[in-house]
Amino acid sequence: MIAKTRQIKGVISTVSLPTMRYLDPEYIYLATTNARCATGDVFVKVGDKVKIGQVVARRHGAFFDQPVHSTVSGEVVGFVKKFHRSGKLTEFIQVKNDHKDEWIHERTERSEEEIAKLTLEDFANITKECSLVGLGGSSFPTYIKFQTKDPIHTILINGVECEPMLSSDHRMILEHPRRVVMGIKYALGAFKAKRALICIKQKYQDLYDTLTAELTRFPDLPIEVCRVGNYYPQGWEIEMIKSALGVKVPAGVLPAKLGLMVFNVSTIVGLYRAIKNNEPVIKRNYTLSGDGINIPQNIRLRIGTSLKELIDVCGGYKGDGDKVLIMGGPMMGANLVRDDAVITKTCTSTIILNQRPIVEEPCVRCASCVYSCPAGLQPVAIMQAVKNKDKDGLNKLNIKACILCGMCSYTCTSKIHLTDYCRKAKRMV
Ligand code: SF4
Ligand code: SF4
Repeated sequence: MIAKTRQIKGVISTVSLPTMRYLDPEYIYLATTNARCATGDVFVKVGDKVKIGQVVARRHGAFFDQPVHSTVSGEVVGFVKKFHRSGKLTEFIQVKNDHKDEWIHERTERSEEEIAKLTLEDFANITKECSLVGLGGSSFPTYIKFQTKDPIHTILINGVECEPMLSSDHRMILEHPRRVVMGIKYALGAFKAKRALICIKQKYQDLYDTLTAELTRFPDLPIEVCRVGNYYPQGWEIEMIKSALGVKVPAGVLPAKLGLMVFNVSTIVGLYRAIKNNEPVIKRNYTLSGDGINIPQNIRLRIGTSLKELIDVCGGYKGDGDKVLIMGGPMMGANLVRDDAVITKTCTSTIILNQRPIVEEPCVRCASCVYSCPAGLQPVAIMQAVKNKDKDGLNKLNIKACILCGMCSYTCTSKIHLTDYCRKAKRMV
């Protein structure tokens, strides 16, 4: 059912390279809507001066609102259409950076005593106003996790980053273990949880050594490092919980119902910044990799940086042929038709590959896709139901349980893009 993670042949691994900083783009672009928020109100107009942390828009989702913060100080110079990570053309506010790095408010620091007195409701309010979301790509609003009524006994930190070629979370742990541990400390206090596990892949001894060394400075904190499998999709929270605790979360049940709360490692660092400094998500770590880019590396950047600009910063495209651009990891990411895209808060990576001809062949009924599906679905039958426009059939095939992990496409003997059919199927139902 599962694939061992691997580096694609000819691609330099970014995991051992220190994170480069690219924090001074000429322009940043802030999305007024996104996949979770179909509408948004804009509070600025062309010519307005803005500062870092200023709320320039508010996006509206089905059950929540999200403030949009400027990530540079400067001037609003326009409203432009660019590609979002979802692959859709979206409206963005364009801000010209004045390079003064001025904040909208004085940057304050909460003392550890003040933080210890914060309630779960305070955590929900702070993370809501800081617009913290799942930075591993889920984009789920963090404040909703702090609104749970379920008692939480165990917190799991997802540092597995199981898709091949991604390493920004790996570098985050190596370079900032203190922030990871402090974020967990705050989450433990908020939920009054009994323990926390930081889940990492078994093979990453460097992460294990870094984290265990850091934890020796906090002997009173009930935090352990938990080594899980090296396979894909070990980072899927249901699979990770099973490996770490031996607990099987039933389909459709939230881990919180079992007393478990999961945060991605970048989100927990975001939580540290929000609680300690009231800081919204202004920057993030990003992987740019693949055999079609000259200098694959991890980059710390401002939210709203143009992908095109980042490609130039990384030495431009490698090779003359056509490129495949994937926003996200190679298994779950969405293909981009142009590089005119923006790196938003929940983008983790872009993979740029040199195009190789892949010829799809007819299905040979081998059932590899069925055996490989971690959600226990029948991708070949889903494909057929999509072709037949059979909505009822898709519901019976439980398409809602599909996590778009890409395993069926990856293992298909006939190189059929089954995951694309799953995406279509989800839209159909
Ligand atoms: S994309 Fe969906 S159907 Fe395909 S393997 Fe993953 S969960 Fe199963
Ligand atoms: S893996 Fe591909 S060829 Fe095999 S049954 Fe599934 S769709 Fe058909």
